[in-house]
Amino acid sequence: MKRTLIVGNWKMHLNVHEASLLVHRLNERIPVHRTVEVVLAPSLLALQPISVELDRRKFRLAAQNAYYKDAGAFTGEVSYTMLRELVHYAIIGHSERRMYFDETLEVVRDKVAAAVRNEIIPILCIGETNHERLQGETQRVLHDQLTTALFHLTSEDVETMVIAYEPVWAIGTGQTAKPDEIAKAIGWIKHNLYELYGTQVAETTRILYGAGVEPEFVGSTLSIEGIDGLLVGSASINYQKFADIVDAAYRLGHERPTDG
Ligand code: PEP
Repeated sequence: MKRTLIVGNWKMHLNVHEASLLVHRLNERIPVHRTVEVVLAPSLLALQPISVELDRRKFRLAAQNAYYKDAGAFTGEVSYTMLRELVHYAIIGHSERRMYFDETLEVVRDKVAAAVRNEIIPILCIGETNHERLQGETQRVLHDQLTTALFHLTSEDVETMVIAYEPVWAIGTGQTAKPDEIAKAIGWIKHNLYELYGTQVAETTRILYGAGVEPEFVGSTLSIEGIDGLLVGSASINYQKFADIVDAAYRLGHERPTDG
């Protein structure tokens, strides 16, 4: 059975002290769940101190970013090799990195390969902008982002990784994607996985939805066929909201059909 995966992306929020406080509160508020896996992605700076404080029965850590070379003269960068003992997952291809840091399809591909090489599970984010959506290009964008990112990977690599569908136009904008839009995109991602790697990979690879997730949307979103969890942005730095999202996912977990 697949566990529901809930990932909190803290983005560039919270200094080390504030991050530690949030972990403390989440620790108090969230019990050990056998059916829900909870992953926290604090800033790079907070990863090390949090890794010591964290209750590992409840939480795993993810990096928000790293460089694709393992080591070398790359001033200011941190590699996946340096993170391999520290994190279980790495968020890669987030639209904010594609947009503000000019991460191309090839850079995302190399980061995914570097994470896998260093035994870190990629959480690959893909999604269309509003312009692309209005131009009817959603499927092409998802196809291009997916196929390039997976280029160096084997079926085994892809089966263990996570793909997050994040419609860019609904991230932090207050807009929400309708369940039928999300279902269509998830179906298309699965179809592409099937075409590239066959039935088993299409069924096993975990797929998340992210963009504007709030506690009240958990039920309707997790009920969409093919969704294995949620990637949460702004609501993840509010411990009440994040804990409510985890609670709701836990309650629903027992009702969702298992496909793994
Ligand atoms: C995100 O940026 O991954 C995200 C889901 O953000 P938000 O929940 O704030 O829309």
